[in-house]
Amino acid sequence: MATDIEKLFDLQQIDLKRLRIVKRVKKSLVSVREPIDLIRLRESVGSMSEEQESLKENQTLAESQVKVVKEKIAANQDLLNSGRLTDPKDIAALQSQIAELESTKSAYEERALAALLEFEDKNKQYQPLVERLEERTGEWEELRRCAREEQEGMAAELKELNRERSVRASDMNKDALQIYEELLKRKNGIAVTTITNSSCDACFMSLPTSVATAPRNGSSTYLHCPSCGRMLIQR
Ligand SMILES: [Zn+2]
Repeated sequence: MATDIEKLFDLQQIDLKRLRIVKRVKKSLVSVREPIDLIRLRESVGSMSEEQESLKENQTLAESQVKVVKEKIAANQDLLNSGRLTDPKDIAALQSQIAELESTKSAYEERALAALLEFEDKNKQYQPLVERLEERTGEWEELRRCAREEQEGMAAELKELNRERSVRASDMNKDALQIYEELLKRKNGIAVTTITNSSCDACFMSLPTSVATAPRNGSSTYLHCPSCGRMLIQR
């Protein structure tokens, strides 16, 4: 039949395991936060993508303007060739209009070409960044997948430990359990500790002979470390 302090010591082992798992879960959650370099990379790719889109729009717009002007030129040219205009003034006016349209067309063509060249130039920087982003996102997603699996495993482990703990706690002296729980909160998760070479294993202070050599676990009162106040168990 285990004594109260032995039962508390067993409970302490379970609580230490639970604490370690909780710490590992927290660490795992931190590890799956999106890395800052990936966030920055995504932002760079996003803003470059907007620039590229706007260059494409400029090019498309200029090209459609070229098309409209070309149609006007062709219509004017047809009129000129039709022989319907007989007044030399009208003919001269139409010719001058065609010349003006030709110059407008050249300006639009230059604009379209400039947008295309700038697009292609920036694409040399943009494409490698897109590839890098895909690669880094893939790596990060893999990391997240592993972490999720690990977290699920830890959650299951924790659930089992919680179950075992409540079974053991239900079979325990309520007063002893209360003292234990309070110490656990105040003493950084360690309420019961062992003695090695007449020293407390939690705070490492050497214990007075009366404490270190007290009768083994027999008495109903608990031994406490005079230095850190934790319960002591002689093993
Ligand atoms: Zn101590």
